[in-house]
Amino acid sequence: MRNPLENVVNLIGDERPRIWRFSYSAGPVRSKFLLYLRDQQKIMGTKCPACGRVYVPARSNCIKCFEDMNEWVEISDEGTLETFTIVYESQSIYHANPPFAFGIIKLDGADTGLVHRLGEVDFKKIQIGMRIKAVFEERLKGDIRDIKYFKPV
Ligand SMILES: [Zn+2]
Repeated sequence: MRNPLENVVNLIGDERPRIWRFSYSAGPVRSKFLLYLRDQQKIMGTKCPACGRVYVPARSNCIKCFEDMNEWVEISDEGTLETFTIVYESQSIYHANPPFAFGIIKLDGADTGLVHRLGEVDFKKIQIGMRIKAVFEERLKGDIRDIKYFKPV
């Protein structure tokens, strides 16, 4: 495959294998978000009391007005594809084998986008603005990947 950057001059690059495995605490807000996914198959967001902005995934503070957000609201499992890409090259960090697609999905009721995989979709028919719906895994474990992918409605 041709390197698309081969004609770029003065490009500083660094190439090395990245095989990092790490754990982190999801924290109280993200944990609650993941527990709603796992236990109730609900996508929940937090709503800012000052500006009314609804965040998905849920966060503890509004990035616009820095208010604490304690109100939880249920978000639709359907939304609109805001943008997308299709991955053809394999990387060790991917949880799927290429080719696969992922995008930013604005779920109905949310003001922010959720990055997630797209599935059951013909890559030639993916379009910005298309309506998509969450498909949940059969075995849920409290992970953002409890949503298997989003498929066209
Ligand atoms: Zn706000």
